[in-house]
Amino acid sequence: MSGIDRTGDDVHDVHEGRAGGGERSVRRDEAVRAAVEQGLLGPDTPIAGLLDVTGIRESAAELRAAFDAVVAPGTPVLHAFAVKANPLVPVLRLLRDEGIGAEVASPGELALARAAGVAPERTVLDSPAKTPAELREALALGIAVNADNPQELARIDALMLPHSPRGVGGTPMAPSRSALGIRVNPQIGGGSIEALSTATATSKFGVALRDEGAREWVVRAYAERPWLTRLHAHTGSQGIPLSRMIEGVAATYALAEEINRRIGRPQVDTVDIGGGLPVNFASEATTPTYAQYARMLREAVPGLFDGRYGLVTEFGRSLLAKHGTVVARVEYAKSAGGRPVAVTHAGVQVATRTVYAPGSWPLRIAAYDGKGRPKEGPAVVQDVAGPACFAGDLLAEGRELPLLEQGDYAAALDTGAYYFAHHYAYNSLARPGIYGFAPDGAGGMTFATVRTAQTLDEIVAESGGAHAAALTALPEG
Ligand SMILES: *Cc1c(COP(=O)(O)O)cnc(C)c1O
Repeated sequence: MSGIDRTGDDVHDVHEGRAGGGERSVRRDEAVRAAVEQGLLGPDTPIAGLLDVTGIRESAAELRAAFDAVVAPGTPVLHAFAVKANPLVPVLRLLRDEGIGAEVASPGELALARAAGVAPERTVLDSPAKTPAELREALALGIAVNADNPQELARIDALMLPHSPRGVGGTPMAPSRSALGIRVNPQIGGGSIEALSTATATSKFGVALRDEGAREWVVRAYAERPWLTRLHAHTGSQGIPLSRMIEGVAATYALAEEINRRIGRPQVDTVDIGGGLPVNFASEATTPTYAQYARMLREAVPGLFDGRYGLVTEFGRSLLAKHGTVVARVEYAKSAGGRPVAVTHAGVQVATRTVYAPGSWPLRIAAYDGKGRPKEGPAVVQDVAGPACFAGDLLAEGRELPLLEQGDYAAALDTGAYYFAHHYAYNSLARPGIYGFAPDGAGGMTFATVRTAQTLDEIVAESGGAHAAALTALPEG
């Protein structure tokens, strides 16, 4: 633990449940040590991503328990993991094993969910730019779809007509088993990170509810389509205050009530409240917890939990972030302008958001020695740099840590969501290997490969290697 930058760490354990994360940091330290000892990290494999399988299972169980504790008995609840937060097939399979489905937003994400064996009825398709082919496939498979806008709803209309359009393979499609809804934007406002604020007045997502005529259009859309049974909103992500997320859910619930009242039957039977629970990147503590959020929701919107509505959630970051660590070897330790700089193998390729927007996405860094043991020593202000060839490629700037030296390791914590599974191919840096770890029952750690490291042959192949002569073969004009 001592190597960890512990900003604000003393809040830990004051929160309820498993909020403390003390066991998590012990497991992580043990995993780093074992990864070095077992050769997953070393001079020739200077970077790896590590996933805490125990922690992922715990978070999934906490999510289920949090909502089970606030819904009326027998209420159907589907927790669909937002695949974009960690698009790795073994992770989706692990979550499936923990009773979690998948929220997908592209053909690629749907393919990953299917490869992981997530059932169609536990899959939700939400993207803002679905092609006709994607919609047809989703309806043919029985995947839930939330229509983003009137044009998309018109495409779904055409697919729902039993005899007109041709389905997969050219045969007429039966009306689909898919649960269908509309995504709305309650326009309640954004959070502190503009790029992740989905409920601003001009957000590109969903039907902007407060725009002139929009609410009436939504009510009519449901009145005319008995098969529209869900209502969806996802009002933000990291940076949005909890109170605003709750406002978004309350506004969505109020609309569901209005639709059902005005058409005189409980047609909307499921509310999809989206994801977006923020993650605490400043310390080990998990805060807010799912239990806190679920209780706050029930207090603010009791009617949503009285048994009349099924629920869908779409959490991403909050399920995975705390359970991932990028560990990178310090290749060189130098000094520039009086400041120590540790040049490591983790930078923009694995921590893109942090490198390009360090103010919005600061990461905790832990220092380990060459054997993967937490590094001791007085805190020294230093930069932790990445391997890419531009000056801004810094994991952390002016950070107080035990002085990192050649052959040590620097770990970027809380990177299990939107980091190492989101490789950015700058400088053709290879995608690192990712390994899941769990205690082996004998005091050590055991690893499973989640994704192998990208090879140089793969880099060449993915960079047009098979077409090397394609351009010189064109006429010279
Ligand atoms: C990104 C996204 C999520 C997940 O957001 P997190 O902040 O990772 O929980 C859920 N639903 C939709 C529609 C999204 O776009």
